[in-house]
Amino acid sequence: MILPPAKLGMLGGGQLGRYFVMAAHELGYGVIVLDPDPDSVAGRIADEHLVASYEDEEALMQLARSCQVVTTEFENVPASSLARLEAYLPVRPSARIVEICQDRLLEKAFFAMQGLPHAPFAVIRSEADIMKADPGLFPGILKVARFGYDGKGQIAVQDREAALDAFLNYEGALCILERKLHLDSEVSMILARDPSGNCAVYPLVENRHRDGILDFSLVPAALPTEFAEEVQRMALGIAERLSYVGVMAIEFFIVGGKLCLNELAPRPHNSGHFSLDACITSQFEQQVRAVCGLPLGSAELLSNAAMFNLLGDLWFRLGQAGEPDWARLLVVEGLKLHLYGKKKARPGRKMGHFTLLGKDCKDLSMAGRKVRGGLV
Ligand code: ADP
Ligand code: MG
Repeated sequence: MILPPAKLGMLGGGQLGRYFVMAAHELGYGVIVLDPDPDSVAGRIADEHLVASYEDEEALMQLARSCQVVTTEFENVPASSLARLEAYLPVRPSARIVEICQDRLLEKAFFAMQGLPHAPFAVIRSEADIMKADPGLFPGILKVARFGYDGKGQIAVQDREAALDAFLNYEGALCILERKLHLDSEVSMILARDPSGNCAVYPLVENRHRDGILDFSLVPAALPTEFAEEVQRMALGIAERLSYVGVMAIEFFIVGGKLCLNELAPRPHNSGHFSLDACITSQFEQQVRAVCGLPLGSAELLSNAAMFNLLGDLWFRLGQAGEPDWARLLVVEGLKLHLYGKKKARPGRKMGHFTLLGKDCKDLSMAGRKVRGGLV
């Protein structure tokens, strides 16, 4: 066990890293954040913020010297940097796992090898691959294999011609062409696994997206219990197969009443934010516990919840000078407001979220939409 007051290393300094820092501080740990952005919201509250590239040898060695374990909040940190650190200290989850999660090709190959259900797809390396792609993949979505997030790096393509245009737009980057599925709904499961293989599993979350970005989440998902059990079996199987250590999120589509894996995130997840206010142990405390080898905390849900994202678009609709009227949210009973302290709002940028706690998810989702709509 890595016990307080040890120092923990965090690669990435966004809001997920910020909550990790807060959870680690609550337990008496120190955190060193590596993130090239001097305004990093996690770096700002960390014990130390190394403002350097993720590949900076000196910064990596400083983490290796000062920390007992390193983790990440962002799947696009170079896996090679994590591998470099693995020579000196535990990296959880491992460089290999992050490498799989940051590359849609490796991820899909992993699903296929494990016999797990996933959307039909083709690897697109050249225009010729588009020309010979199965007609059943249209209408589809062309996704860059690497560095996509929040719906970025993907374009809906009606037919082959549109796919060729989209591919040119990506300047020949390696892509996958995925069939566009008719989704009944989307769900995610967040779990933690410790170095001995013990797991804690959060309740199944139902997610609504808008323009490829998570809009809001409801927990527990309104699905038959068999579904939740099947998701849990699949999720635990994946974690076991990867010898995963840390917090992992798994995104699923439900298509024609059947489960279909979408993607893995090797870190806490936006759809797990409900756990900050609705569970004994948040996903971030769970990450601290898992990577330090502490006993995992309870992932039990204390209250039903709805979590609504607050995107930078809100600020834009108000005009550059405007700040949403937070008092309108703060007055709502059972509402917890979270703002991440980002200095600049951009459309699609995650600036904060709020969680509504209560009895009935349908009521919470209506109430959440209403109060958020009232901000602009
Ligand atoms: P990201 O890394 O941006 O989260 P995803 O592959 O999860 O990328 O896609 C974001 C969202 O776009 C999904 O949550 C879903 O709403 C939609 N989407 C992605 N792939 C498909 C698909 N094959 N069929 C239908 N909708 C999809
Ligand atoms: Mg996704």
